[in-house]
Amino acid sequence: MYRTPQLPAPSLAALALVLIGTWMVAALAHPRGLILGGVCFLAGISLMLLQGFLRFDSQARVKSDLELENLSLRNLSQKEDHLRQGILVNLREGVVLLDSQKEVRLYNPAAQLLLSTSSRLAMGASLPGVFREPETLRNIEMAYAGKETEWTLRRDPRSLRLRAVPIDSVDGSQNVLLTIGDITRQEALETTRQKFISNASHELKTPVTGIRIAAENLMDGGFVAPGGEINIQAILRSVDRMTMLLNDISELSRIETGALRLQAQPIQLGVFLPQLIEEMRRQAEPRRIALKAELEPSLDQMVMQADPLRLHQLLENLLSNAIKFSPEGSEVVLQVQSRAPWLIWIVQDSGPGIAESDARRIFERFYRAPSTRGVPGTGLGLAIVKHLALLMGGEVSLESELGKGSTFTVKLPHP
Ligand code: ADP
Repeated sequence: MYRTPQLPAPSLAALALVLIGTWMVAALAHPRGLILGGVCFLAGISLMLLQGFLRFDSQARVKSDLELENLSLRNLSQKEDHLRQGILVNLREGVVLLDSQKEVRLYNPAAQLLLSTSSRLAMGASLPGVFREPETLRNIEMAYAGKETEWTLRRDPRSLRLRAVPIDSVDGSQNVLLTIGDITRQEALETTRQKFISNASHELKTPVTGIRIAAENLMDGGFVAPGGEINIQAILRSVDRMTMLLNDISELSRIETGALRLQAQPIQLGVFLPQLIEEMRRQAEPRRIALKAELEPSLDQMVMQADPLRLHQLLENLLSNAIKFSPEGSEVVLQVQSRAPWLIWIVQDSGPGIAESDARRIFERFYRAPSTRGVPGTGLGLAIVKHLALLMGGEVSLESELGKGSTFTVKLPHP
């Protein structure tokens, strides 16, 4: 708070006037009064000069105080401008302020990025230059009329969520603040979730229907179904299928929602690999499939860091596919090679192979090549493989030729 300095009262000028007056009276009344009057006159003049000086000095002081205050206010406002600028620049949400003339008064880099080149976003740009979509223009007009609005705008390849908020300025004019959020990922996740639910319920319907038919047959006293299958066996087969599906669904959902945390541990390849092959032989033998592991000799003593359970799950999925889709008596080979900075795991079979049109889709959830539908499965195994490989910092790829077998290659980082 600033206060103007006060001069002492009674005023020096009034005192000087009194002294000058005294001199005039004294000079008129008595000749000696002239000397006394002269002294009074000089004293009066000096006092008037002194007051003038004091006033000048105090004015100068007031001026320099004002300048100081002005400077500090300017500094403060510069700091606040800088802070505001920093906030706007670092916001992930786009912000556009439209003034009462419906022209852009402020915007941030995120707004420019999100609206992309289809909007001519610039200071002073007019509303129709920035947005041409009728719904957007209508919503902004509603905000000018005082109603807050929210809507979705598609600007390829993005989906944007816009909000228009009316803002009164000090002079009473109406501004509109637009905030722009990128909801592309949220939308994609929502679509995936809906597709997942619809696929999962569709897949579950088949075994549930199987159980119902078999149970109804049993109720009617039929032990064997019209197709020749024993009804109890049909029920068990459907229950197994449902269990397999539910396990894969919950596993995939744990991976996709990030609930699955990898627990890396040292794994000695020379020990891990023979154990895995031994377990998988139990699946391969009934179909007389020869399962082989080929580990580069230099890797026998090698210790890698990975989650053993998840690495096992990934390879088990690939090997069990190779075993179940390959013809009886054929060969499935698992090779491990080092190609710095990667450790390469290759699962090769001489099964039916995968057509190019299917190869593009087999890593999608529930996708099964039409030619292999007769073989039991959930269509989720390769989706789990893909996600596990990504989670481990690697990737999976496929090379295949119809009728000549398939080769799945998993690259995992190996520092
Ligand atoms: P599932 O094996 O339970 O059907 P996956 O997700 O593991 O599901 O595989 C998806 C589809 O990819 C399979 O249904 C099959 O059509 C095809 N596929 C996977 N591995 C092989 C393979 N080794 N040989 C031929 N086709 C395969």
